[in-house]
Amino acid sequence: MAELSLRTRQDVLERLGRDTFDVVVIGGGITGAGVALDAASRGLRVALVERADLGSGTSSRSSRLVHGGVRYLRQGAIGLVRESLEERARLLANAPHLVRPLAFVVPRFRRGRAQALGRGAGVGLWLYDALGGARLGRHRRLSAADATALVPGLDARALAHAWAYSDATVDDARLTLTVARSAAGRGAALATRCVAVAIEPPAGGVATVHCRDELGGGLIEVRARAVVNAAGVWSDAVRALADGDARSELRPAKGVHVTVARAALPTTAAALLPAPDGRFVFVVPWGEVTLVGTTDTPYGGGLDDPGADEDEIAYLLDAVNGAAAQPLERADVVGVYAGLRPLVAGDSRRTSDLSRRHRVDERNGVVTITGGKLTTYRRMAEDAVDLVSERVLPGVGHSRTRGLALHGAAPATPPPGVPRHLHERFGADAPSVLALARAEDLGRPLVEGLPYLEAEVVWAARSELAILPEDVLERRTRLATEVRDRAAAAERVAALLAAEPGAVAAPGAAGEAR
Ligand code: FAD
Repeated sequence: MAELSLRTRQDVLERLGRDTFDVVVIGGGITGAGVALDAASRGLRVALVERADLGSGTSSRSSRLVHGGVRYLRQGAIGLVRESLEERARLLANAPHLVRPLAFVVPRFRRGRAQALGRGAGVGLWLYDALGGARLGRHRRLSAADATALVPGLDARALAHAWAYSDATVDDARLTLTVARSAAGRGAALATRCVAVAIEPPAGGVATVHCRDELGGGLIEVRARAVVNAAGVWSDAVRALADGDARSELRPAKGVHVTVARAALPTTAAALLPAPDGRFVFVVPWGEVTLVGTTDTPYGGGLDDPGADEDEIAYLLDAVNGAAAQPLERADVVGVYAGLRPLVAGDSRRTSDLSRRHRVDERNGVVTITGGKLTTYRRMAEDAVDLVSERVLPGVGHSRTRGLALHGAAPATPPPGVPRHLHERFGADAPSVLALARAEDLGRPLVEGLPYLEAEVVWAARSELAILPEDVLERRTRLATEVRDRAAAAERVAALLAAEPGAVAAPGAAGEAR
């Protein structure tokens, strides 16, 4: 197994201070991980520094959809939808175990505010098919009975009929981890809990990024010919590290999700449900829970932990209750999480109207990549490294990631003897996780009633750079929003991590839902 642990982190920190890299990437979300993979697969020497954990920013707080974005058609964003659908196809091919097709239902209601939702949906879905959506099958009309067979939580009496189409779903945090591991497999030096605190623009062709090791407290000077700022909603702050006069480019928008027990909102497909303000929210089946989200509001507060307020939770429950057979109550909510979209500033007042397109620019030798979507990360990374090649490192070849299989890529169906749960999370590594469970007596479930095994925690510490309990609870697994009794899960995870060599003492109780 390729080790990626606290022990290898120490080696990486030494390498960061010693070597001169071609590219240093700041930020270990999906964008930074994608840039590291794109650059490493073009043969460049790559370093990546992430101030917390891989995926700990926005990249673990999305709706977990790999999609073209039906709703962007309403905004006329044809190019974005086509590009996203191309990337959806690539992701399905490059990580078939992790990115899975999912049926989506758009209900057409007989009356009330919900009635507007399905109106015109047939035309929009026809266009979606034409732009590449049909690669997973053409959209089709469903009877009310067929729609409630897929989404039993819908109120059948209120339904006229429905439309169905296909998109895909992914564990966003594990996708980020998988892309980062793919980069590490091609020689990239990845250090988490390592924060960039100052940038000296290139002098004599080499820039220096000053970093602080958040665990050991030491300072490291990382030298590289090019710097890529992939710090998501923090990218304005990172831009300012190199250029005190830098203008603010971002308009962060907050998005809140809730999870509810599957029994409270039963579904086997995703669904789009109308919200009171004319938007719609997604309902997505996820393990033993159903995900409901998202809100989309301008955000001017602190970036580090946006949190959700009761009004936002009520908005999501209200959207479901306008269409559900059984109304949801606040007590049905199992978990809550909030994320910030790194949207590029535009003229629109509503953040939901701002483009999901990305922007790449270069100033003072620092290439900044902002905006975009989880789905389009590969294309964003390609564009960022192309600009690096154009402005700073001439002669670098073209991107090689279009058909590049991601770490652990395996067919969608598990081989005999491998449980589906492990296969979908670990792909080709799943048999090794099973072997670890057998060899070290770690085959017990972490939490009664959920499929996560104790071995997954130990595997995460040894091969996935999980350091603190929150890394495991929130990102290597999604327990933080899948169980009510987080304290018991956190205690078990902390005990398993503490038994690993060089373990870091966990600060406070981890695993709180956001
Ligand atoms: P981040 O994931 O935030 O990564 C930036 C990283 O930089 C962070 O990990 C941070 O810790 C690190 N960092 C910051 N400062 C420093 C520093 N000084 N030194 C070192 N590291 C630093 N997209 C889809 O395609 N499908 C969806 O279903 C979807 N749903 C969404 C739902 C919501 C509510 C939101 C908010 C977004 C959604 N998106 C979706 C968009 C997608 O999640 C984001 O575009 C994407 O995750 C952004 O990734 P990123 O790497 O740019 O930013």
